Amino acid sequence: MRAQRVQQDLPTSLASGSRQRGHPLATLLSNLDGMVYRARVDGRGMDFVSEGCLTLTGYSPRELGGPGQPSFSDLRHPDDAQAISLAITAALSQRQRYELEYRIVRADGELRWVLERGAGAYSEDGSVVAVEAIVQDNSQRRQIEHSLAEAERRYRSIFENAIEGIFQSTPRDGYITVNPALARMYGYASPAELIADLRDIDRQLYVEPRRRADFVEALEQQGYVTNFESEIYRRDGTVIWISENARAVCDEAGQLLFFEGTVEDISERKRSDQRLRHLAMHDTVTGLPNRLQLHERVGQLLGAPAGKDGPALLFIDLDQFKYVNDSLGHEAGDQLLQIVAQRLQQGVRERDMVSRLGGDEFVVLLAGPVCRDQVAQVAERLRGAVSQPCAVAGRELSLGCSIGAALSPQDGRDLRTLLGSADAAMYRAKELGRNNVQFFSSEMQPESSGRLDQLLRLQQAIEREEFVLHYEPKYELASGRIVGVEALVRWQTPEGLVPPGRFIPLAEETGLIVPIGEWVLKAACAQNRAWQQQGLPALPVSVNLSARQLGRGDIAGLVAETLALTGLAADCLELEVTESAVMQDPEKAAQMLGRLRAQGVQISMDDFGTGYSSLSYLQRFRVHCLKIDRSFLLAAPKDPESATIVRAVISLAHSLGLKVLAEGIETKAHFDFLRTTRCDEFQGYYLCKPQPAERIAEMLRAQQRREDYIAVCAAKRAPMEPARESLGAGPARATVAVPS
Ligand code: C2E
Ligand code: MG
Ligand code: MG
Repeated sequence: MRAQRVQQDLPTSLASGSRQRGHPLATLLSNLDGMVYRARVDGRGMDFVSEGCLTLTGYSPRELGGPGQPSFSDLRHPDDAQAISLAITAALSQRQRYELEYRIVRADGELRWVLERGAGAYSEDGSVVAVEAIVQDNSQRRQIEHSLAEAERRYRSIFENAIEGIFQSTPRDGYITVNPALARMYGYASPAELIADLRDIDRQLYVEPRRRADFVEALEQQGYVTNFESEIYRRDGTVIWISENARAVCDEAGQLLFFEGTVEDISERKRSDQRLRHLAMHDTVTGLPNRLQLHERVGQLLGAPAGKDGPALLFIDLDQFKYVNDSLGHEAGDQLLQIVAQRLQQGVRERDMVSRLGGDEFVVLLAGPVCRDQVAQVAERLRGAVSQPCAVAGRELSLGCSIGAALSPQDGRDLRTLLGSADAAMYRAKELGRNNVQFFSSEMQPESSGRLDQLLRLQQAIEREEFVLHYEPKYELASGRIVGVEALVRWQTPEGLVPPGRFIPLAEETGLIVPIGEWVLKAACAQNRAWQQQGLPALPVSVNLSARQLGRGDIAGLVAETLALTGLAADCLELEVTESAVMQDPEKAAQMLGRLRAQGVQISMDDFGTGYSSLSYLQRFRVHCLKIDRSFLLAAPKDPESATIVRAVISLAHSLGLKVLAEGIETKAHFDFLRTTRCDEFQGYYLCKPQPAERIAEMLRAQQRREDYIAVCAAKRAPMEPARESLGAGPARATVAVPS
């Protein structure tokens, strides 16, 4: 119940007429919204009740207040009645008006909130004779008030508990309201503390002092701002990134009242953006800018008018770097690259840029204008610095470098041409005995730009995924059945498919084999899974791993991720590594192969017989299968000594528990020889060249039908040719010849 007193005397009283219809003001009163009553205080009932009574209470005026009938006060809710009575008595005794809000119980039992405003009627001697009041239905207002309070509570809860900061501010007074999240974000203990402390938003908050002015200006001009990103100081001075969304709130006349909006802490996002950008723009081994950044910077610097000196490029290639990599391993190679990177950076000015293009190739951009003499000086200085001895992997090495220089604008007006010129000059330096500097001259152009061009094109091919896999079937020697396939990558160019031998070496040298290898692994696993989903038998697919992939990065992690991604079972993936690859860093390779084996992936030793050909290494790396290289078998059909060696290798491998596969079975002579050995599997052009995926699916389907047919024949004891004989008689093309 709510009571309010009004300090004013009631001038007139309702005429002390009857409560019946005949009262002179009855019509007027009956049209009032609510009911009017006059109740005597001597307990003799009600003098007057207006017609509105029926609507309000469900009782007609005649039913209330007569002798033996309920009085209006009897309708008051029992919980409110006593307080009402006290409040009225108190008001009357002080000759004051009263206003009370309370509940009544209607004739139909329903509760209603009413507002009663009344005053006493007094006799001439000043004593109270009656109460006169108007009572109005207040339920609707109560309902609205309740809804408003509820809405307010809800909004307050959102405001208080939001993760985003919420604020209202004005250009003049700073923050007028902020929520706890904003206070926390800005490093204050409470919203009140923030509002009190952060008065000079321009300078206290924004790192960039004009930022607040920009914010206010945008709000005043367009009425809102979205994703307004700024760096701000927290209370303790640390800097975070925020994004604000806000609008201007104006009154009806269009006058600005305040700004309100939300604030999000986007520091984490900004950090990952920066990390990504850094990764995209930098070489991971040396931390130097990469080709992309070089491209950007050259773009900014080029464009010097003809005849005037512009910037220059130095193409630097380490001499004998391959030797370090091959003999001391990739880690030593990386270490050397880092040392060289550092020396190059120390040898140039702030505004020049040292970048790494890949492999052992660095490019130094000398910001223009620089003349030929200056370039020669810098190049000589850098060459001297690089050739200083350095300690790598416990040894003292001293590596020279060959430098090619190209000047703009005469040797090129864009990065590609300039790089081509510098590369050509570098090649000339190599030809001239290495460890010297050469300037580009026009007769160098033709023979040199090919390699660099291919490198740039290969980089582009990776970005555009211009590769395709062909698959070479592996056959079981005893049955002629296809028991697996080897994935072999090809590069799709407008001129046709480029075989791996023509780009893998360059990719290996420059590290591009890593992204290519990742693509191959994913594509091969996805294809194998797709075949299985077409109902073809589950066979292992082999993927070739290069030394780089083994030596750097987390190939086991990549394999696990790829298997999970494609849903391929681990025993349906086989990885082929070569002896020379594992021997580059035997420790690391053994560890990596161990992790792969533990995942259930099969490992093959590829090209056996071309390198160390050491069976003891096979034991150490515990591979599943030995692939004897084609060259090892070439002489065997004709040369008894070679044949004996091959047989011995096969039986030794068997004694180590390895499966043996012969690669490159190209002719009938090879095949016939192979059948005299106990080799398990083979592959080669004699039966099938590498094929596109669809063709492999057809072959597998044919093999399946053929086996079904054999099974049916066996069941019926029908005559049939055993698979093995079909191999011996003629080329095992019989494996794809399907009786229908
Ligand atoms: P590899 O792993 O020893 O693959 C076998 C190569 O021998 C394939 O050449 C195959 O087409 C070829 N070959 C098969 N049977 C015969 C035959 O009867 N006679 C002759 N003359 N050759 C035969 P391809 O596809 O040109 O691959 C060459 C090498 O490129 C592969 O040798 C492998 O070392 C590498 N390579 C292929 N794909 C990839 C890949 O995805 N990643 C990596 N790292 N290397 C790959
Ligand atoms: Mg292979
Ligand atoms: Mg091989």
